[in-house]
Amino acid sequence: MLGDSSSLELKSGARVGVVGGGPAGSFFSFFLLQMADVAGLNIDVDMYEPRDFSVPGSQGCNMCVGVISESLVQSLAVEGINIPGTVVQRGIDSYVMHTVRGKVTITTPLEEMRIATVMRGSGPPGQRETRWKGLDGYLLQLAVGKGAKVLRSRVVSIAWTDGRPEIHLKDGQSRRYDLLVGAMGVNTAALAAFEKMGVSYHRPGTKRPSSPN
Ligand SMILES: Cc1cc2nc3c(=O)[nH]c(=O)nc-3n(C[C@H](O)[C@H](O)[C@H](O)COP(=O)(O)OP(=O)(O)OC[C@H]3O[C@@H](n4cnc5c(N)ncnc54)[C@H](O)[C@@H]3O)c2cc1C
Repeated sequence: MLGDSSSLELKSGARVGVVGGGPAGSFFSFFLLQMADVAGLNIDVDMYEPRDFSVPGSQGCNMCVGVISESLVQSLAVEGINIPGTVVQRGIDSYVMHTVRGKVTITTPLEEMRIATVMRGSGPPGQRETRWKGLDGYLLQLAVGKGAKVLRSRVVSIAWTDGRPEIHLKDGQSRRYDLLVGAMGVNTAALAAFEKMGVSYHRPGTKRPSSPN
């Protein structure tokens, strides 16, 4: 969502807000700052992410079983992102998805151990020490390494103010940006806030699986 729609160009000094620090928000921030660097632009990126991925249990975890496909591992390697051994728990050659309509086995073409299994957060509740780091925390730190700033706050609403998108936080603070990016997943009320902006955005449809009969 860009402020001043007559110009779609980000210039040095531009301020970018990213709502959500899951994989999408971290990748966006990482690659934007990488491209800005190449173009010689100085861009500020604020990422809003209420979860602390270093906290064990559901508080620090985006719910997901954490299997990364071989093709994604390869695509990231091409971009210079080699997921470290402290994040990849194991390489596997196949996995099985159990659905209400049956099970599906997904294998690597050459049956090599190239599918990576990871934790999204920092493991089960109550866990004190682990040698593994979660994927989401690792990706967030990649973005921070490029210069992104992480604000541990939830965005509660968005408004247009003086032709620019402005976010409002739970604690009553607000900030205005030149570009605002929604990377908050599909299960959040923040999608409605983007919908209400009148920019022809419609949240993706989701549905719960029906029972087999
Ligand atoms: C049960 C389950 C199992 C899955 N298993 C796999 C798998 O094995 N492999 C795989 O590749 N994919 C899997 N997926 C899909 C995967 O989880 C998603 O594709 C991925 O998480 C999408 O990344 P994202 O960054 O778009 O969203 P998310 O990972 O959902 O991240 C969104 C972030 O936005 C933050 N956020 C939300 N609202 C706000 C707000 N208002 N303000 C600020 N921040 C906010 C959230 O805290 C969150 O960190 C699974 C999904 C589910 C539900």
